[in-house]
Amino acid sequence: MIHPRIKELSAYKTETTPCKVKLSSNELPIKFPEEVKRKIGEVVSSLPLNRYPDPQASELKEVIAKRFGVSTDNLVLGNGSDELIQYLTIAVGEINSPVLYPIPTFPMYGICATALGREKVEVPLKEDLDLDLEALLRAVEEKRPSLAFFSYPNNPTGNCFREDAIKRVRQEGVFTVIDEAYYHFSGKTFLADALQREDTVVLRTLSKIGLAGLRVGVLIAKEEIAREINKLRLPFNITYPSQVIAKLMLEDFYPIIEEHVQMVLRERERLMRELSKIEGVKVFPSDANFFLFKTPYPAGLVHAELIKEGVLVRDVSYLPNLENCLRVSVGFPEENDQFLQAMQRVMKRLC
Ligand SMILES: *Cc1c(COP(=O)(O)O)cnc(C)c1O
Repeated sequence: MIHPRIKELSAYKTETTPCKVKLSSNELPIKFPEEVKRKIGEVVSSLPLNRYPDPQASELKEVIAKRFGVSTDNLVLGNGSDELIQYLTIAVGEINSPVLYPIPTFPMYGICATALGREKVEVPLKEDLDLDLEALLRAVEEKRPSLAFFSYPNNPTGNCFREDAIKRVRQEGVFTVIDEAYYHFSGKTFLADALQREDTVVLRTLSKIGLAGLRVGVLIAKEEIAREINKLRLPFNITYPSQVIAKLMLEDFYPIIEEHVQMVLRERERLMRELSKIEGVKVFPSDANFFLFKTPYPAGLVHAELIKEGVLVRDVSYLPNLENCLRVSVGFPEENDQFLQAMQRVMKRLC
């Protein structure tokens, strides 16, 4: 019999309405050159696919360790950081102790807690979308959570939370996961803490730097912690193609990725500036490759009107504190221009 807690879940869906301009999933706008694709074809076609891949993904780990400036002993790789979130929810604290996180945030923290039957302690952000430290401390005292997740920067709000508030919650004895999926766009990190402390781990991913399709997530922790998490990792969680392609990209073609990250950072500033010039549009600050914006109109309506214009963004207005808000990812300059023009037309039509 399927447990009621599973029946309560709904399968994770992303928006798939086909649109010319897709700015809804925080992916990196990047088209790999022919030379890169040829090289990928070569390494993949020479794989012995009848064989199991390296269960440790050792060669890929070497490259990731070097890129992130850590030792391979500090790493656990996951089938996306989603899988690592699940491992942490299994491994940290008593299974009957709650999991704490601010809301709105990345849905996987809640999904994994529910799947495992752990109580969720969801603390709303303040109106300025930063952490409500008093409410967090009250929740910690009352519910005694053993595990906390902080998306840093936070998805979908785009901001990095106050560092002191995260540390203050951790000080209460809560094992703290800093999900740095957007690290390459924020430059802000708890890496030093993760390497030194047994109560802090950092999550990174290749998904937001152009390789979402490979499904490679990275947990960075003190060696003792990484070793324990590694015990519950499914042995072949990183497929053979993912191992060799990720290694190739990080080793030989990293400058292409870096170039595109820089492009997104430039475009983010331009797009936010231009969008905020449209009458009635409010743009929220961002440390990520996406940002929130708000109009005086129902977000569902703006969303639908943008689809008519061939542009897909994410409607996040159903989330607490995000009335009338939409989330847009930064794309190629041409895509951003098309989004801006579409917004101009939509706002004119709706007023
Ligand atoms: C996109 C995202 C991830 C990435 O998950 P993967 O499974 O690595 O693709 C993790 N955390 C947050 C907050 C995200 O927005």
